[in-house]
Amino acid sequence: MDFIECYRKAGRIACSVRDLAKKKEYVGKTLYEICEKIEKEIIENGGFPAFPVNVSLNEIAAHYTAEPDDPKIVGEEDVLKIDIGVHVAGYIADTAVTISYNNEYHSLVKASENALKEALKVARNRAKSSEIGKAIENSIIKSGYIPIKNLSGHSLERYTIHAGKSIPNINSFGSFLLEPDQAYAIEPFVTLKNGIGIVHEGKVANIFAIISRKPTKNKELDNFLNDIWGRYKSLPFALRWVLDSYDEKNARYLLDNLKKKKNIHAYPTLVEGNNMMVAQSEHTIIPHETFTEVITSCTNN
Ligand code: MN
Ligand code: MN
Repeated sequence: MDFIECYRKAGRIACSVRDLAKKKEYVGKTLYEICEKIEKEIIENGGFPAFPVNVSLNEIAAHYTAEPDDPKIVGEEDVLKIDIGVHVAGYIADTAVTISYNNEYHSLVKASENALKEALKVARNRAKSSEIGKAIENSIIKSGYIPIKNLSGHSLERYTIHAGKSIPNINSFGSFLLEPDQAYAIEPFVTLKNGIGIVHEGKVANIFAIISRKPTKNKELDNFLNDIWGRYKSLPFALRWVLDSYDEKNARYLLDNLKKKKNIHAYPTLVEGNNMMVAQSEHTIIPHETFTEVITSCTNN
């Protein structure tokens, strides 16, 4: 399979798993059940999770995954963002959907979907990243909401989710041109007018990734680090994912120490600055010279 085929396969899996998730009734379900089920479906479909499924509720914009046996239950009034990453041989499809169980926020969700649609109209080979940001911002403002300014889409590389180029959610300075056969995630985040439109880091940080393989001079830590590298390379992982080989207490101890030694980074949750509701929609695209593929759109495949 060449790399485009790997992206297409990852995209097909991500799309079908996301659309299945969208149809499900999650009220009364724990975040643990939701994450485990979706990750299992990715594997059953022939892919691997490129990161732990993000299940971010309400004012949490991103970067929350279930703790082991996470008891948190989705409530009748919640706005749930499900962000899914699938990789095939390291080639990643990144996609997200927001489900609102509160009628009051249906139009907020719709605003993120419309902004993504507008962005996809202009995102093509040689398009300026600032034009995409402008399309997103204009669409969101027209819907009566505001974009989250400090969250953005991103280029994707093999085994790397945020690969250096940012696709803004606002009309911003500093622009680059989209390149052919390069994967990009586009992901508008929308909040209410009385939000700040900026996220800050929350207290919880339960998504991890290796940032350095430098030996620690501690055999136990080095073995753990090598084991994680063998499984996930530099891709993010969750504590849940290592409990097949480590007991929870020990795994927490190893993670804490590797964080202190700066071998592992923990990604904090990202929370809206005024604790307002956030909705997100995301697709991964690959521009080509003459056409653009939305690899996470099922109608594309
Ligand atoms: Mn995502
Ligand atoms: Mn993304």
